This record gives sequence, C-alpha cells and structure tokens, in this order.
Amino acid sequence: MTDCLFCKIAAGTIPAKMIHQDDLVVAFDDINPQAPQHKIIIPRKHIATLNDIDSHDNMLIGHMVQTATQLAKMLNIADHGYRLVMNCNPGAGQTVFHIHFHLLGGRQMTWPPG
Ligand code: 5GP
Ligand code: ZN
Repeated sequence: MTDCLFCKIAAGTIPAKMIHQDDLVVAFDDINPQAPQHKIIIPRKHIATLNDIDSHDNMLIGHMVQTATQLAKMLNIADHGYRLVMNCNPGAGQTVFHIHFHLLGGRQMTWPPG
C-alpha cells in the first residue's frame, strides 16, 4: 500500500533500525520505546488490522510469532519474560493501520495493561 508508514519501512523508503528481515516479515526498533527492549514485527504484506486476517494468513501470522520468540531469545529477555502485543483498532490504541506485534521486555510488566 503506497500511503502506509509500515509498508514504507518494509520497502526501505523510510529508515528504521532493522533487527530482522526475511521474505515475509521485517522487525525494527520502535521509535518511541515503552520498555528497554521494544521491537515492532510486521508482515511485508499490508493487512490493516487483526480483523482483516483470514485463513490464508495463518502461516504468515505463525511466522511473525516465531520471529518474535526468536528475537526474544536473541535479546536475552525470553527467560525473564516479555510481552507480545497486537492492538486492534483505535479502542485498543492502534495508531498505525498495518498489523504489527509489539515485542516488549527488559523490565517488569504490570497487569492489567492501561
Ligand atoms: P500502535 O499504536 O499502532 O499499536 O503501534 C504503533 C507503533 O509504531 C508505536 O509504538 C509507535 O511508537 C511506532 N511508530 C510510529 N511511527 C514510527 C516510525 O516512523 N518508526 C518507527 N520505528 N516506529 C514508529
Ligand atoms: Zn502497510
């Protein structure tokens, strides 16, 4: 999608501090980190919200989760614990309408989330 921030980051036309790239997904540092480690994991495919995924995306979503868990291990936050979050629509705080996981770690998380 031409007018999408995360499509532009995936295409390399807007810079980001990349931590992982493959054929299906891209991961990079969040510009406004909410924890010592805060990575964003996106599919290269433009999907606006969690409500827009269908069964054809099962492998892609699985690959996003696998990427996140591998990054958590690489960043040494896996054993202590981390949070993997996807906000859906403005009521949950979604501001960029291209699905993404937030991988957050490096501090104690609280519950319930705000
Ligand atoms: P959402 O609020 O949609 O769940 O998450 C969007 C995330 O994208 C936010 O945590 C925000 O800080 C991050 N973000 C917004 N614009 C940019 C940007 O230009 N570059 C990077 N790296 N992250 C961004
Ligand atoms: Zn997009």
